[in-house]
Amino acid sequence: MRAAVLTEINKPLEILDLEQEGPKAGEARVQVKATGVCLSDWHVMNGDWPFPLPFVPGHEAAGVVVEVGEGVTGVKPGQHVIFSFRPNCGHCRYCSRGRSVLCNGHDDTPRFRMHDGTARLKLNGEPVNQMARIGTFSEHVVCPAEQLVPVREDLPWAWAAIIGCSVATGVGSVIRHAKVEAGSTVLVIGCGGVGLNVVQGAKLAGASTIIGVDLKDNKLEFAKHFGATHTINAQKSNNVIEEIRDLTGGLGVDYAFDAIGSQQTALQVVDAIAPGGHAVFIGMPKVDEVAPINAFQMVFREKQLTGAYYGSVHPAADLPVLADMAMAGRLNLDDLISRTYKFEEINEGFELLLKGDVARGVIMMD
Ligand code: ZN
Ligand code: ZN
Repeated sequence: MRAAVLTEINKPLEILDLEQEGPKAGEARVQVKATGVCLSDWHVMNGDWPFPLPFVPGHEAAGVVVEVGEGVTGVKPGQHVIFSFRPNCGHCRYCSRGRSVLCNGHDDTPRFRMHDGTARLKLNGEPVNQMARIGTFSEHVVCPAEQLVPVREDLPWAWAAIIGCSVATGVGSVIRHAKVEAGSTVLVIGCGGVGLNVVQGAKLAGASTIIGVDLKDNKLEFAKHFGATHTINAQKSNNVIEEIRDLTGGLGVDYAFDAIGSQQTALQVVDAIAPGGHAVFIGMPKVDEVAPINAFQMVFREKQLTGAYYGSVHPAADLPVLADMAMAGRLNLDDLISRTYKFEEINEGFELLLKGDVARGVIMMD
């Protein structure tokens, strides 16, 4: 059983043979078919988000259920599933209110171990941790069955994988979290895997103006392809905020999404919204990132600022909906997947992601 393991911060992943225990009660084993290369993995690999090593990253994936442990009723062998990187205990305060992204039903054990606190992966007899209890850079994954969402079998594997993170986060932020109305003006800063899905989501919601901002012209071309009506290269612009106001009758946008997660972009989305507008942080910052917001403007202009994690989706209900929308041609996932890799090419996948040359890269495990 091979997995791509992080054994040291800022070192390439190593594909190693690991021992894997079968699923215990409430768990399942899944053969991974496709797994996306996401900046959240990189945050772990470069130490922005510290986790105990050795560690298997990977959280945007899909596969086939191979076996299930005692008491599992939600999935069965042979079923196609998308991994959710959030738990879904089903009975905590948040799950009960339909906000399973905030599930705290398993907060008594580390989120890189199974619910009994032990690991299913071992390297030379020592436990190996799994990102978000899944760690999908692995040929097989044993994980809590509650993190597996069954999906239709005609869904291509690469599509299924990216629905599990970038599509859910981007489209979900627009339609589930901010609830953008038809005719709205929308800004997204950062036109990578998540940002392009904000653009797609805004188009789906009927936004009249969709402005994409990035530092790279190739990403702005992607944004136009996915429905952006205007683009701004922040490196070439003298004043990004002025340009946004010029495109929106001097007001600013109704909705602005920060798909990067830095102090600068956080301040930009708050500045860029019109009076009464809504700024949303969706890109994951470093754990200690702060941004000094002008509090006066928040009151005087009735601005709203919120954070959306995982697009505020309810994975069990929403991932199959996103699959249906993709299969009906209402989300363009083929053009989003600009590169596929073999498992052995995983480190190249991160190099290209950091260079900004790909919309989304996906590792095909077959
Ligand atoms: Zn991700
Ligand atoms: Zn819960």
